[in-house]
Amino acid sequence: MADTIFRKIIDGEVPADVVHEDDRCLAFRDVSPQAPVHVLVIPRKEIVSLAHAEAEDESLLGHLLLTAKKVAADLGLDDGFRIVANSGPDGGQSVDHLHVHVLGGRKLGWPPG
Ligand code: 5GP
Repeated sequence: MADTIFRKIIDGEVPADVVHEDDRCLAFRDVSPQAPVHVLVIPRKEIVSLAHAEAEDESLLGHLLLTAKKVAADLGLDDGFRIVANSGPDGGQSVDHLHVHVLGGRKLGWPPG
């Protein structure tokens, strides 16, 4: 797996505005926010994308979603939020380390582009 910018954030080589961390994941604010609240939740384990996740990652994937929910609550997204996991080129993924976007703080449009 390529050495991504998210690996460097996990290793502390690149700074990030971390809002949550535990033994399995890290959540930090997106450097280019698309909403008033825009946080990325990433596993410490190197998984390229959701398309690369395996059955053994079931618990980890659940943990990422529950962490996204906790982050949304901690950051006051009481009126709702959106979870996005871009996967692969057509999905718009730009960093090859699985991540979940947590977006909120404004009314979000649908469908996405
Ligand atoms: P993707 O396009 O792969 O779904 O999402 C990758 C996200 O990572 C983008 O929203 C982009 O703004 C964010 N990002 C890229 N590089 C950095 C960085 O160095 N720090 C932070 N905090 N976010 C980054």
